[in-house]
Amino acid sequence: MDTSARIYQDLDRILVTREQIAQAVKTLGQKITEDYQGRDLMMVCILKGASIFFTDLIREVDLPVSVGFMAVSSYGSGTSSTGVVRIMKDLDQNIEGKDVLIVEDIVDSGKTLNFLLQVLAQRHPASLSIATLLDKPARRVVDLTAKYFCFNIPDAFVVGYGLDYDEKYRNLPDIGVLKPAVYGGK
Ligand code: 5GP
Repeated sequence: MDTSARIYQDLDRILVTREQIAQAVKTLGQKITEDYQGRDLMMVCILKGASIFFTDLIREVDLPVSVGFMAVSSYGSGTSSTGVVRIMKDLDQNIEGKDVLIVEDIVDSGKTLNFLLQVLAQRHPASLSIATLLDKPARRVVDLTAKYFCFNIPDAFVVGYGLDYDEKYRNLPDIGVLKPAVYGGK
């Protein structure tokens, strides 16, 4: 997609380019491959935001991984956390004894992943870790650290490469900051 395309008109700026994403995903895939040699790795995609990151990442992992999908709702259609997390779709397989790697789009306050870690830990995986595409450490309200992250970003609401605003902009190949006017700001 050309950056002069219509969808880019709603962006204030591009924060992470598709080239930077591809390089970071490749590097992360190699790291996961090294770290999980000889283990029974299951990678869990948190829908919908992590979907594009997930499908790119698993193809950079040179191990026979199994995959699972979960959907949680945390934000509704706004741009800040309500603190209410609900499981909309659960895993359909057992994770007991497996090395589980949760693949998430972004860690913001940390509330969503904190909740998910608690839920999944009760199912007795051999290990439970997080790989996130983006991390906004300045916004953290719970003590949570992702084992792997691709980019630390400032406190701005971003869209693209799977991340949405009101279910839109997931199809942007880059990650960008929306113009505040798009969500009713100044
Ligand atoms: P947390 O529970 O860590 O505050 O929020 C995690 C979830 O909030 C993410 O999975 C994502 O869906 C959403 N979120 C947090 N920050 C952003 C952002 O900058 N852009 C978008 N599109 N979603 C975000």
